Formats: sequence, structure tokens, C-alpha cells
Amino acid sequence: MINTKDNKLLEVTGLNTAFFTGEEVIRAVNDVTFTVERGEVFGLVGESGSGKTVTAHSIMRLVHPPGRIVSGRILFEGRDLLDLSEKQMEGVRGSRIGMVFQEPMTALNPVLRIGEQIAETIEIHGVRQGNGARERALELLGQVGFEDPEKRYIQYPHQLSGGQRQRVLMAMAVSCDPSLIVADEPTTALDVATESQILGLTRGLVDSLGMSMIFITHDLTIVRSMGRSVGLMYAGRMVERNRVEDFFREPLHPYGRGLLGSIYGFSGSAKRLKAIPGSVPKLSELPAGCKFHPRCPFVMDVCKGDEPAMKEVAKDQWVRCYLY
Ligand code: SF4
Repeated sequence: MINTKDNKLLEVTGLNTAFFTGEEVIRAVNDVTFTVERGEVFGLVGESGSGKTVTAHSIMRLVHPPGRIVSGRILFEGRDLLDLSEKQMEGVRGSRIGMVFQEPMTALNPVLRIGEQIAETIEIHGVRQGNGARERALELLGQVGFEDPEKRYIQYPHQLSGGQRQRVLMAMAVSCDPSLIVADEPTTALDVATESQILGLTRGLVDSLGMSMIFITHDLTIVRSMGRSVGLMYAGRMVERNRVEDFFREPLHPYGRGLLGSIYGFSGSAKRLKAIPGSVPKLSELPAGCKFHPRCPFVMDVCKGDEPAMKEVAKDQWVRCYLY
């Protein structure tokens, strides 16, 4: 057992995950390093294909062939998750790390009543059995905002709206009192009003239960409202790690500056990320040097040579850029 220092719950160091398809190797996650402290929401943000979901799947050891975690360290509650057997990892997933995904229908069993699904999760992880698990499931349905837990308990997933199903997933995710929740774009499929309710609920649950959360999103406004720290990903790299307030005041990386600059009326209507000049390169066709250099207004000769490394420019502020 490795001792975790101070307040750190999760330390991901030098994570590399690749997909081996025939002759091609797609390096989806490259040298990703970050820390999630106890009780904090870490916003993992980037455009589609930037590597944020593969990063989350790597942490949960849910990368399947032809994908493989090539190297790195994922220190969680004192253990390197990459050293655990699959059986040990099953004990961690759902129990110590709760998960919430974008499409609740695929995560729920369509032929099982929702209350039974929550109770089953509680029983599988040995938290409570029988009537105790049922009582806990009812309690959780109340905690995630259902006014009529008994009625919801006996309903099937198709009888609920998308937002209600997402509440059920949230109840399942916290049912075994995990210390970390990984939420991957949990509100993307929802309308704006429901999204705001679910975000409020999520934030409230994380705060009241004292959990940490990795919140994956392509929506910077969500990071601003939810997160304490932010990790910005581009082309499989983390290019900036920062405190949320500093990132939104003055992002370090030119990509972050471009993203913020391209969001018209940031606190207003147009809140989704808009494209900055050029497009995100395919992971199989990345340029040499800094992967952002073909789109960067500050590009220098050095940017086209070796790739810059992550550098700490101030306490808790890291950036992968030759400007620093
Ligand atoms: Fe731009 Fe160079 Fe920094 Fe890359 S390393 S973001 S190209 S200035």
C-alpha cells in the first residue's frame, strides 16, 4: 500500500492509453497527469475526440481491446489501480468509484424495476441486504429529488423521462457511498431546464455527501458553475490544468484563450463551445511538435519541433506551451 499525501484522493501520473488496430496505433491519451482532491469537482473539458472519455475509462479500467493502458500510474485511496486484478477492480467500481454516463437508458436494465436495480447495486457491494437494501434505495430516490419514492421504486426505466432516469443513475452512483464519482457528459442529452436541475442536484449531492467528482464535459459554462479545478484536453493531451476562477479570468494556453474568446456572451445564451479557426486534428494524423500549432496565433518555430512538456507556472497552474 502506497501512502497518499494530504488531501489527494486521486493522482493520475503519466497516463498513456492507445488503441491498436491493425498497423495503426491511435494514441488517445498521452502523458496525462492530474490530481483530484477530496471534496472537489474536477472539470475535464475538451472537444469531441480530445481524449477525456478515454481518460475516464482508463481510470475505471474500462478500456477494452483493441485499446490498452500502456503506461502510467493511477493512485486512488492509496492503491495504484493499474496494479489491481480485474476482480479487485470490480470491487472498486460502483463501490469506491461511482459512475454516471450520458445515456441512462444503456446503463439501466430495461426489464428491472428501478428500485430493484438500486437495491441490487447495494446488495452486490455488500452494503446492505434484503429489506435494508430496499430501504436504502427508497431513501436514495428521495435524496435525488423524487417526491414519491415508493411509486418510483416499482417503475421501469421506460416510464421515466430522460432527466428522471439520470436521477436514478445518480442514486445508483452514490448508493455505496463512494469517494469519487465519474460523470461523463451526464446532461448532454437533456433539455436546458432539466440540465440545470440535474446539475444543481449533482452539485448538492457531491457537497452534502463530501464526495469528489470528475465531471467530463465539452461545455465550459458547466465547468465554470460546477468545478473547482479544470483540466483542458486537446488531441489526447492535457494542455492546461488550472483553478477554475483563474482559468476563466485568464486562461494560460492559447487553445483555452481561443475557446473562451469564441464564446459569445459567455454568461448568456450561446454557451456551447464554438469552433476556433481550423479543426481538431485526427489522432492518427497529428502534427509534429505542439499539436495545436497549426491553429495557434502565437506559433513559433520551436513549436513545430519537439512537443512542449507540462510546466508548472504558478501553484496549481500547469500549461503545455512554449510561451511559458
Ligand atoms: Fe501555440 Fe507554440 Fe504554445 Fe503550441 S507551444 S500553444 S503552438 S505558442
